[in-house]
Amino acid sequence: MALFGRKDKYIRINPNRSLRTPEQTKPEVPDELFAKCPSCKHVIYQKDLGAEKICPSCGYNFRISAPERLDLTVDQGSFEEMFTGIDTKDPLNFPGYSDKLATVKGKTGLDEAVMTGTAEIQGRKIALGIMDPNFIMASMGTVVGEKLTRLFEYATEHSLPVVVFTASGGARMQEGIMSLMQMAKISAAVKRHSNAGLFYLTVLTDPTTGGVTASFAMEGDIIIAEPQTLIGFAGRRVIETTVREQLPDGFQKAEFLLEHGFVDAIVKRTEMKETIAKLVAFHGGAK
Ligand SMILES: [Zn+2]
Repeated sequence: MALFGRKDKYIRINPNRSLRTPEQTKPEVPDELFAKCPSCKHVIYQKDLGAEKICPSCGYNFRISAPERLDLTVDQGSFEEMFTGIDTKDPLNFPGYSDKLATVKGKTGLDEAVMTGTAEIQGRKIALGIMDPNFIMASMGTVVGEKLTRLFEYATEHSLPVVVFTASGGARMQEGIMSLMQMAKISAAVKRHSNAGLFYLTVLTDPTTGGVTASFAMEGDIIIAEPQTLIGFAGRRVIETTVREQLPDGFQKAEFLLEHGFVDAIVKRTEMKETIAKLVAFHGGAK
């Protein structure tokens, strides 16, 4: 018997076909299982972020949607949404703007980048505005301006304190100068609310920039911020080229602004509800 007998049958491998399909070569981890912290870059198991979505490694407060924030902040079932159904116009016929609006409305379930209405926090009634960074980076267009203006006017008429959670990339470029005008329009309503002796609290969340920082975000009687929030007007490179000076590290972070007096306090998301309730009560908010 020959030790090395000749096999006459071979397994045929088609050189054009990989044994693994491209899909199989990638590890199969569902996207929603892990999140990467934008601040410390750690990869975190989603469940470890908790309902408040706080990085367990560095304490960064992840960006959340307006409905998520509403759930974390107000007394359950107390929110009454107001000033919806205002149509966003496209004054410049900006290419692709209408399609973008339709897509983002479908995706977020919101009608614009800010949610407005009244709610109760630990039994105290407030007028509330929450900006949503998922809606064209919560940029401020004419409808955002109109909703916030109406919110302040309503609060003035009904003697309510106003709480606004800001988050914005700034003015909405697709609406050109019309969006810049919102800065003055909202500010005028804030001033009338203030003249009536009413309390206005702003909560700066990541990121609060551009025309929003340059107007109503910085007009609160008290300004609080979430940890590590980016707060600024223009970006670092723009400022550095203009003033021809190197800027210190972290100069647009909440912690730096607290040190330099632009922010009154940094409040963790886990303590936000309690803090707002205390501030509103202290400034005459009625039960
Ligand atoms: Zn982190």
